[in-house]
Amino acid sequence: MVAVALLAWSLTASAAAPPRLVVVIVADQFRADYLTTFASHWRAGVQTLLRDGANFRRAQYPYAYTDTCAGHSTIATGTLPRTHGMIADSWWDHETNLLVDCTDDEAASIISYGSPLVVAAPVAGRGATPAGGRGAAPVGGAGNSPRNLLAQTLADELRQQRPGGRVVTLSLKERAAINLAGHSGDAVMWFDEAAGTFATSSAFASAPVPEVTQFIDASPYVKDVGFVWTLRDPSTTYRNRDAGVGERPSNPWSGLFPHNLEGATAAQYANLWRRTPAADVYLARMATALIDAYRLGQAENKTDFLGISFSTLDYVGHQFGPDSREVEDIAAHLDDVLGSLIAHLDDKVGRAKYVLAFTADHGVAPVPSPAKGFGRLTLDDVRERIEETLRNRYGPPDKDAHVARIYYPNVYLSPAIRQRLAADPLTVRAVQDAVTSLPGVARLLYTPELSDRSRDPLVRAAALGRAATRSGAFLIVQKRNWVLGPRGTADATTHGSPYDYDQHVPLILLGGGIRRGTYDAAAAPTDIAPTLAALAGVTLAKVEGRVLQEALLPDSQTTRR
Ligand SMILES: [Zn+2]
Repeated sequence: MVAVALLAWSLTASAAAPPRLVVVIVADQFRADYLTTFASHWRAGVQTLLRDGANFRRAQYPYAYTDTCAGHSTIATGTLPRTHGMIADSWWDHETNLLVDCTDDEAASIISYGSPLVVAAPVAGRGATPAGGRGAAPVGGAGNSPRNLLAQTLADELRQQRPGGRVVTLSLKERAAINLAGHSGDAVMWFDEAAGTFATSSAFASAPVPEVTQFIDASPYVKDVGFVWTLRDPSTTYRNRDAGVGERPSNPWSGLFPHNLEGATAAQYANLWRRTPAADVYLARMATALIDAYRLGQAENKTDFLGISFSTLDYVGHQFGPDSREVEDIAAHLDDVLGSLIAHLDDKVGRAKYVLAFTADHGVAPVPSPAKGFGRLTLDDVRERIEETLRNRYGPPDKDAHVARIYYPNVYLSPAIRQRLAADPLTVRAVQDAVTSLPGVARLLYTPELSDRSRDPLVRAAALGRAATRSGAFLIVQKRNWVLGPRGTADATTHGSPYDYDQHVPLILLGGGIRRGTYDAAAAPTDIAPTLAALAGVTLAKVEGRVLQEALLPDSQTTRR
């Protein structure tokens, strides 16, 4: 059986040479409509992608809660959160009573490049406040690893089925770099916000990787200390105005250009640098240095993997919103960054010998505007409404609270209450009624009732994003254009809704074997890994996407029969 399969493989593999390099580029929070609304700025990388690539204009995440960890894991594995298990950036662990980040691993330790710029302090997560976000309860995990990722990535399969190739992934975020790589990698790099250094994990390397050290020593990111963020293009070419309403810039920035790194304290510098185009430029320079150091894509009969996730747009988008000049300008600068990266790949590898996918992990909601009826839904209000309802029906809790924790859409209950609710549909309805009477709440879904075969699209989307041991008992679904977050959040806006502005992302393929054009068939980021796997001639054990066959040139696949 094995021999027959191998024979079939050798016969079909000759149809086309697999790519020497597979590149996955994620622009964090790059909403699909930016491709058209910011079109006046495209003259470099985005223009190349749109002109020479296969552009799937209707690509959309099918699941309800769209965030960074879920998105990157979906892109990397071709499966959904119900399968890969990365339902959110953080979830409540009922066994340890800790809020854990998706890559937390107490058995792993951080390996830093260079000495810390900032004295290590607990990392404040997205929207951190004492009440609803991270920070109130102890935060678990000393280091980071892919142990919570329950599916194999494309990079994992490349390493196993086409041995000899390298796996290199880079991001400012650990959850992006780690999940793009999967369970191993030669260089898996991110920016450790707490220390203000680049870092990897003992899960990937026992010591700093020399190729990375060489780059970081020669070009430390603190060299950007005098950086002034100015507009990339003439101000008349911007559709978004400066000084938008509701912007929440980091101290000491204002809502007006230019944004300056000069004079920032060390802690401010590490925070603000991530929010400037300089950070994306730096990451791309690190990528090109590693392409050269590892000679990625430059050897025959090997397929290397390069994953890059540009985080700056997300950091800026949270503070300034999608209709800000800041977001528009980060996208404009990213056009240059992608242009230089593609030029380097064309030069060193050759367009026909690599294949590249460009996408995003999620979009973003507009900044709440009372005038337009777009509001803010406070997690603490939801938690208190549920706690009150449960106390009215069941009495006060023996200890702590009936609601153990609320983290974005997931409402976690104490084990005793979860058990009681399972046999008490009237109280489930009472909780749902109490919460849906709050302004901005569309639904409160009871997760044991979710089914991925439901005819209700919202129920189905929630089911695709649910993992039984990690999801809450209830899932909050806000109304369209309402933003969910803790009291006193530092974010002007966020993502994580089941609406088009969060689910709809770019999906563009470029390179060898790709038929350029625009495609309006249904597509999803789950299709990226199976499509790239088909080109590379590797199989994925489980996929929940499809091969984007219509964008592949004849004979470009090295599929097994
Ligand atoms: Zn985000």
